[in-house]
Amino acid sequence: MSKTIFKIIFLCTFFLFSCENKKPSQKNNVKETNPGVVISFDDATINEWYQADKILRKYSWKATFCVSKINTLSHSEIKELKQLQKEGHEIAGHGFHHFDAPKFVAKNGIEAYIKQEINPMLALMHFHNFKVTSFAYPFGFRNINIDKALLKKFKIIRGTTYGAEDPFFQNCYYNNSSVVYAIGIDTDHPNFSIPYLVRLLNYAKRKHKILILFGHKPVQNITADYQTKIATLKLICNYVNQHNMTFYTLSELNNLK
Ligand SMILES: [Zn+2]
Repeated sequence: MSKTIFKIIFLCTFFLFSCENKKPSQKNNVKETNPGVVISFDDATINEWYQADKILRKYSWKATFCVSKINTLSHSEIKELKQLQKEGHEIAGHGFHHFDAPKFVAKNGIEAYIKQEINPMLALMHFHNFKVTSFAYPFGFRNINIDKALLKKFKIIRGTTYGAEDPFFQNCYYNNSSVVYAIGIDTDHPNFSIPYLVRLLNYAKRKHKILILFGHKPVQNITADYQTKIATLKLICNYVNQHNMTFYTLSELNNLK
């Protein structure tokens, strides 16, 4: 009798421990939910992106380059983009013509939009072996109907957001949705400031969030609109490294769902 009880206790203990052992390995599989940032760039300043990567690779950074007008790029720019993809950066779509999507769709319909703005972009980008699974709206202009059509073609689509409200009210953090919003890091982006950027980063770290950022042309010294200061990028990279946060690409967000 006591032997049977002993056996039962032994078996129960065995199962308990074998279950316990599974938990840490499951936890390891979801380590992607570490707080972090997505740094994205729009348009087609390929040379400046390539130069920025030379400066920032020491931080093991990762960025998403959202390319528009791929048909206008030179052979050497395509080569640089390919090199960026090879290093682990993501190459995403930003429109064949860089159309204002809602305006174009209102006038010509969604089918014409997909046919003129999306399909030729994807065909040419695939021809160059870019694995395009994300799309960033030109000017951030979007609506739900276009989102719906684009989500048949892309895993993640990115709009933009503005303002300088408390980070709690900002929608520039990943929210488990396929439609995400980035806040600008160009010096001329409305309400951009280093103290506010640091507040957004602090909130991401504290609340285990992923902050989504976008800029255009990385430069050492600002000479025009749509430029991101290299110093701003260094600050972000330093912050991510110092706080053991993670650099995510746009499409990697899709794997976290
Ligand atoms: Zn753009």
